[in-house]
Parts: sequence; C-alpha cells; structure tokens
Amino acid sequence: MSTYARITVVACPVCRAKQGLSGVLHCGSIVICATCHSSLRVTTLRPMRLRLVDPSSTRTAESQPESYA
Ligand SMILES: [Zn+2]
Repeated sequence: MSTYARITVVACPVCRAKQGLSGVLHCGSIVICATCHSSLRVTTLRPMRLRLVDPSSTRTAESQPESYA
C-alpha cells in the first residue's frame, strides 16, 4: 500500500481546534474551521500555518477613506 490520504493536522488560530486538512493545499488557500467557521488562509505549508482572514481588512476599512472623485 503506497497510497496515503495525506491529512495535515493544524490548530485553528482562533479556537485552537485541530483541523484535519486533506487534499492539496497551497499558500493562499482558504479553509474554513469546522469548529468556529472562521475563514483561514494558508500562509505557509511547512510548517502548516493558518491565519485568520479578517473580513474587515478591506481597503476602505481603516482611517484612510478612499475619495470618490
Ligand atoms: Zn476555529
């Protein structure tokens, strides 16, 4: 048997629940935590690291509002 289901176990940065991620993941892939349903972006693969995708981190969110000319 040479076929393994490759499952990467990584802790959710939000709720610390262990996530078993299977399949092909790339840097920048978005996964959803099964426990807290946060959107998590894969930042590095080795070691696997996840980072919370901040839904408010859009360009217009902070103290510099875009001017609509
Ligand atoms: Zn979580």
